[in-house]
Amino acid sequence: MTPRRPFRVVIVGSGIAGLTAALGATKRTVDGAPVEVTIVTKAELAESNTRYAQGGIAAVLFDDDSVESHIHDTLAAGAGLSDRAAVEVLCTEGPYRVRELVALGVHFDRTDGELSRGMEAAHSRARVLHAGGDATGAAVEHALVAAVRASRIRVLENHFLADLVHDDSGVTGIEVIAPDGTLGRLDADAVIIASGGAGQLFTHTTNPGIATGDGVAAALRAGAQLRDVEFYQFHPTALAVPGNFLVSEAVRGEGAVLRASDGSRFMPAIDPRGELAPRDVVARGIAKQMAARGGEPVLLDATALGSGFLARRFPSISRACADRGIDWSTTPVPVTPAAHYWMGGIRTDLWARTTVPGLIAIGEAACTGVHGANRLASNSLLEALVFADRAVRTLGTTTPAAPRPVFGRTTGAASFTRGDLQQLMWERVGLSRDRVGLLHAASVLDTWRIEPTTIADRETANLLDLARVIVAAALARDESRGAHFRTDFPSPELTTRKEAVLAC
Ligand SMILES: Cc1cc2nc3c(=O)[nH]c(=O)nc-3n(C[C@H](O)[C@H](O)[C@H](O)COP(=O)(O)OP(=O)(O)OC[C@H]3O[C@@H](n4cnc5c(N)ncnc54)[C@H](O)[C@@H]3O)c2cc1C
Repeated sequence: MTPRRPFRVVIVGSGIAGLTAALGATKRTVDGAPVEVTIVTKAELAESNTRYAQGGIAAVLFDDDSVESHIHDTLAAGAGLSDRAAVEVLCTEGPYRVRELVALGVHFDRTDGELSRGMEAAHSRARVLHAGGDATGAAVEHALVAAVRASRIRVLENHFLADLVHDDSGVTGIEVIAPDGTLGRLDADAVIIASGGAGQLFTHTTNPGIATGDGVAAALRAGAQLRDVEFYQFHPTALAVPGNFLVSEAVRGEGAVLRASDGSRFMPAIDPRGELAPRDVVARGIAKQMAARGGEPVLLDATALGSGFLARRFPSISRACADRGIDWSTTPVPVTPAAHYWMGGIRTDLWARTTVPGLIAIGEAACTGVHGANRLASNSLLEALVFADRAVRTLGTTTPAAPRPVFGRTTGAASFTRGDLQQLMWERVGLSRDRVGLLHAASVLDTWRIEPTTIADRETANLLDLARVIVAAALARDESRGAHFRTDFPSPELTTRKEAVLAC
């Protein structure tokens, strides 16, 4: 008897979502055929947003906690737009997936042998596991990379997803650029997009350079529906130096304060909770202060906390400051808000299937509906784990093809740089938006055109495609909700419109 041809899965991306899916898929069969997995990743295997995650992973693992409480907190953060069924899946299956990470060898921090847990903003219980103090993502990525290296999974590092190959039946493979610049093709029975977010859309971002939204843009071009793209979460405090290293909220939780360049505190006048007001309130407070002072960053003053405490409690941030020649135990550090997490992405069902047959999306590139208009802290690593597992459990099943939006590329002729795009997005489509600014952004984006010849140009072209859909969705949402703040509609829920439909 001739052996059955393997079921070929191509996974784009090697963060927590892609690596988890790869490890799970190799254990599966589809209609009796083994699954053959190829990971395609544009840098070295470990490079990803995942490796920079600091705070941790939220999951219900302790007796005084409950799945209902985690569901409640996630729905509250989502500001009425989360999909309840997806949230229930996340919070119910999350604990099992986190235990699997522990079994794989992720060393979460422990106290007296028991898992330690942190309390984070908007969680009603302490339920956030962390590793290496503030180096959770590095610990997770390290363990997953080691497991993949020890497996028979084929890994193509420094290979760039250029586009999806698709026909009337759906997605049938990918176009990929090898390190020598040649454009090739990988055929697949299923393509899993796990290519992360698009923080590089904005001047300031906590995301590394890889976060250019390539997978989401390729899915859009292949006719996949996107969802909730107008919702981008900005972190209030990143170092205002190149790289925008994240300075965790916990630093303010421990007593650090924000000061204008003249040394005065400004947050108490904005909100009675001062520096501990909700993330978006603090971020907008800082942005307003910066705008009033010609873009000059504000200062985060942690000097009262003492050098010993800072080094022990925040080893990664202390190292990042030292690497940049700053001693934050004696000198307030310059900080800026920064684009941090994209709630929107490729629309999926509860099994990570997109609206295009053969195309699956997981992790930050996907929009499962879990986060709604705003993400609850430490839910994103969990979402990637849970839906990566679900994706591989349904390999080989198909979804009925949904109507495909027709994606019109820009017809403009003006050349532009990535910096121009980032500045436009930062100023007009960032923490605060209004109709006039969004219309201006839309008209400028319409005039821009890029004929990509290099990989960097392809990334910029992807960012342009995504900027256009984000602006269209932000214009369509005439309200302030979650991370989307419209100064011309400052009160939430002024319209009944729940979801902006993207077809451009
Ligand atoms: C500084 C920071 C701190 C964070 N802290 C937390 C936290 O404490 N808890 C939490 O839950 N979340 C946190 N997050 C968010 C979380 O880290 C991400 O949402 C999550 O890691 C995304 O995982 P992913 O696997 O979907 O994508 P990523 O980890 O971003 O991986 C994407 C992968 O796709 C590859 N790729 C991209 N484009 C292409 C292409 N064209 N071709 C081939 N490969 C491509 C990249 O190289 C990369 O390997 C943090 C994020 C940042 C930036």
